Amino acid sequence: VAISSAATAPVLARRVREKIEMLLPKELGRLADLASGWRVRVAERLDSLLGRRRFWETVFDGPAGSLAIGGHVDKAEREVARILLNFEAQPPEPGQAWLVGAGPGDPDLLTVRAVQIMQAADVILHDRLVSDAVLSFARRDAELISVGKLPGRDTNTQEGINELLVSLVRSGRRVCRLKGGDPFIFGRGGEELEALRAAELPCEVVPGITAAAGCAAAAGIPLTHRDLSQSVVFVTAQGKDSIDQLDWGSLARDRQTLAFYMAVKRLPELMRNLVSHGRSPDTPVAIIERGTLPRQRVLRGRLGQLSMLAEAQGIEAPAILIVGDVAGLKEPVTAAVSSSRQPGATHLSPIYAKKSA
Ligand code: SAH
Repeated sequence: VAISSAATAPVLARRVREKIEMLLPKELGRLADLASGWRVRVAERLDSLLGRRRFWETVFDGPAGSLAIGGHVDKAEREVARILLNFEAQPPEPGQAWLVGAGPGDPDLLTVRAVQIMQAADVILHDRLVSDAVLSFARRDAELISVGKLPGRDTNTQEGINELLVSLVRSGRRVCRLKGGDPFIFGRGGEELEALRAAELPCEVVPGITAAAGCAAAAGIPLTHRDLSQSVVFVTAQGKDSIDQLDWGSLARDRQTLAFYMAVKRLPELMRNLVSHGRSPDTPVAIIERGTLPRQRVLRGRLGQLSMLAEAQGIEAPAILIVGDVAGLKEPVTAAVSSSRQPGATHLSPIYAKKSA
């Protein structure tokens, strides 16, 4: 492993070298020697790329790997021979699916589990909203497939996504279905899980930070508050029918916070419904556009000004609308976000954004 900054930043190169040295055992070369001795034999016996990949993962992650690194070459050789023998006898393994929440956009808000899975998966089926910074955690040879549905224009139908997911896992692949925010909040993750269950395929669900939680934190708005709001409701404002079916009487009640997803096109309608059902036009509101992302924008105002605000500011998706007294609390001097997330600041790549211990 060689690191160079082409003489532009030797200190930086040394930092990178230190990080890599911390991650890799000094005796890693022994593992490479072991692998090179078996390469041809393995290629002769296992003809599929996927089979070979699984084989080497078993070798490197198991006792063979630690034996080789520990200098027990003969034992390591015997272990590799044993694995190869059994590998041939094994029926093809079924694949694995993970339904993973990618959080609202900032890669620092991924869970440790999400990163582990992204580095294990053969295929990442991701939503259009999942940012490049998040996708940069994928294994380098993983296949990335964007299955984003554009609002109003189905580039991929939900049925199509379900079928793709099932067929990939059936063919033995390990698939990370990566969805913005949390997979089970307005993400249709439930339908994907059902499709996998119906096909009797294994699936693990990994929660993510949902947009309302991520955006509220980034704007310094507590979603509940002892004095102001005893409950919070996550509401989807997509589609005319779904708006008509909402229980506006209950949504218009005081002392609760509303977080509207997919609301950009519906702001005037939401305002009219809430006010006509009794919520005061003076109720504070906040719109968080591209929350936690480098070009985040937070607009504050009153419920009665929502149409005007929307029109004047040209709000674009993705955005969350928060309605309730909590949105009127005095803005924190410095919001509880790192400088990398302040509007206008360049976003740091994940490796430098991590704080060293
Ligand atoms: N499963 C996702 C929601 C999917 S619906 C979650 O748990 O967050 C997509 C909607 O989420 C968008 O229309 C928008 O309202 C909201 N959203 C997602 N990411 C956002 C972001 N970075 N900033 C503001 N709103 C966001």
